[in-house]
Amino acid sequence: MNAPYLVIGSGIAGDRAALELADRGADVTLITKGRMDECNSDLAQGGISAVSPEAVAAGLDSYRSHVEDTLRAGDGSCNPDVVEMFVRRAYGDVIGYLEHQGVAFDRKDGVYVLHQEGGHSVPRVYPVADYTGHAVQMSLEDHIRAHPNITVLEHHAAIDLITENTAQGKTCCGAYVLDREIGRVRTFAAGNTIIATGGAGRVYQVTSNQSTITGDGIVMAFDAGASVLNLDKTQFHPTVYFDPGANANRRFLMTEALRGEAVGGVLALTPESTEDLVSVIVPGHSSHSTRDIVARAIYTAMQQEHSKGNPISNVWLNLTTAVTGKSREQLEQEFPTIFRFCLEQGIDISEQSAPVVPAAHYTCGGVPVNIHGGSAITGLYVIGECAYTGLMGANRLASNSLPEGALYGLLAATDALSHPRRPRDSLRPWRYTHATQEIDEAARNTLWDSTRHIATNLVGIERSGPRLQAAQHAMRGLHLAALDLYWDSIMSNETLELRNATLAGYLMATAALQCEESRGGHFRTDFPQKDDKPIVTYVSKDLHGIPYQPRRH
Ligand SMILES: Cc1cc2nc3c(=O)[nH]c(=O)nc-3n(C[C@H](O)[C@H](O)[C@H](O)COP(=O)(O)OP(=O)(O)OC[C@H]3O[C@@H](n4cnc5c(N)ncnc54)[C@H](O)[C@@H]3O)c2cc1C
Repeated sequence: MNAPYLVIGSGIAGDRAALELADRGADVTLITKGRMDECNSDLAQGGISAVSPEAVAAGLDSYRSHVEDTLRAGDGSCNPDVVEMFVRRAYGDVIGYLEHQGVAFDRKDGVYVLHQEGGHSVPRVYPVADYTGHAVQMSLEDHIRAHPNITVLEHHAAIDLITENTAQGKTCCGAYVLDREIGRVRTFAAGNTIIATGGAGRVYQVTSNQSTITGDGIVMAFDAGASVLNLDKTQFHPTVYFDPGANANRRFLMTEALRGEAVGGVLALTPESTEDLVSVIVPGHSSHSTRDIVARAIYTAMQQEHSKGNPISNVWLNLTTAVTGKSREQLEQEFPTIFRFCLEQGIDISEQSAPVVPAAHYTCGGVPVNIHGGSAITGLYVIGECAYTGLMGANRLASNSLPEGALYGLLAATDALSHPRRPRDSLRPWRYTHATQEIDEAARNTLWDSTRHIATNLVGIERSGPRLQAAQHAMRGLHLAALDLYWDSIMSNETLELRNATLAGYLMATAALQCEESRGGHFRTDFPQKDDKPIVTYVSKDLHGIPYQPRRH
């Protein structure tokens, strides 16, 4: 297959890049691992942060304020130039663009309804009720499916990038892609390749992430020779709905807005309690504080109960009318998806507390890119959650990631159009192994369970040197075992995801071990303080690759 522009991933970043390229006349192939909407973008509830010129003129908000909030959340690790550029462009290039595509952000009497989320100094988050991501995804997807210049290939999983060493350094020439429906691997020769495969949340046991988010793009770029920065920084969301039967399934998010000033939900140790557990554990803070503080407070509270011989598997989010002053109708109107979901679980949130736990939510690190989304490999762009642009630093400010993905989709497309490359006429076709067996289910499930268990318990909300050493060794072994299965089984999405998740887990543990300080989404009990200068962790194949020789290939 020949693709002048190959986009891998159909979340907000990949969708925007594809549309931007196609609208300007380019031929685009968009491949995605599952259905188009099986992405984290579709799940986003809260909204999109941006400062409008009108808000600035009215004195309600300022670019400086959004910049400062982003830098504060990033905990000293952001790139200030990137933050400034993002804040200045988010309204016009994201909100304006999406409205033009048909996304109807909430308005009352013609005026935008803006939410204030944790870490933001003023209301500046543009929601579509509590299903912003779905509204955006549906709108972009409709345009993409109708676009004559875009070929969409669903159920196509990128396996590896194809690279060449040239006088200019390494160049990306396309990718090997598994057509999941027929089980064959296709070779895509591409002029420019854009990876937009999202983060690596599924490496964890308890996560808000979609099942497709297994670190694929980060691993593919790492394997092709790109470095990976700050992969130790994982943002844990304090509140996903606790469902004891969910096992490794995605957990339903109870948005931050429920704990914000406007609603005033309170986290408590028991369903009847109204005592804010966060203020007990971290005096001076409350359930309204930023995600890292609240998530760690819940973790500590659960550990304390455990040491008292009273282990608990969750805490409670009290949104009852008695605590929030919100009537049943108001809660249902403002948070229709959450209200309905809880009701289906037998909880009327206006009368009963909802059981919640923290969950891995956002991968702050990724493949380093420049201001155009360009990576160190020529012809390879990396955008969205799998990239490290410098915007998030050590921790993401709420609702900054949808706009980052959309903006970098635009930036990468623009840059790629000004550097057109002809796809190679011939590339080495995929070499199948002699494997005739499907992947062994028991082996696969055990390796997956172990990976998730280790990530959650050893590379989780609280880390330490001994835990990370253990995690690094264990993940290394799991990855080698996953590679055996990968080479000895018929190629499938299952073998591929296991290969990627185990390597992503190993890279996270390796990065976290390097980082001997606590900052943003990384807390070490043995190094609880921040260094004067932030540590940005670095992993690369040259330094940290795991040598492996397939038994047969
Ligand atoms: C529950 C939830 C709520 C959130 N709420 C908000 C919010 O309110 N505001 C906000 O700003 N952010 C929010 N976030 C974060 C935000 O949704 C994500 O950071 C953002 O959507 C990432 O976009 P993306 O395009 O980079 O990746 P994604 O939207 O995750 O898309 C990745 C795509 O890549 C595909 N893919 C993966 N691997 C492969 C492969 N090997 N081959 C082919 N395709 C592949 C996937 O199938 C998917 O289509 C939320 C996240 C979650 C999980």
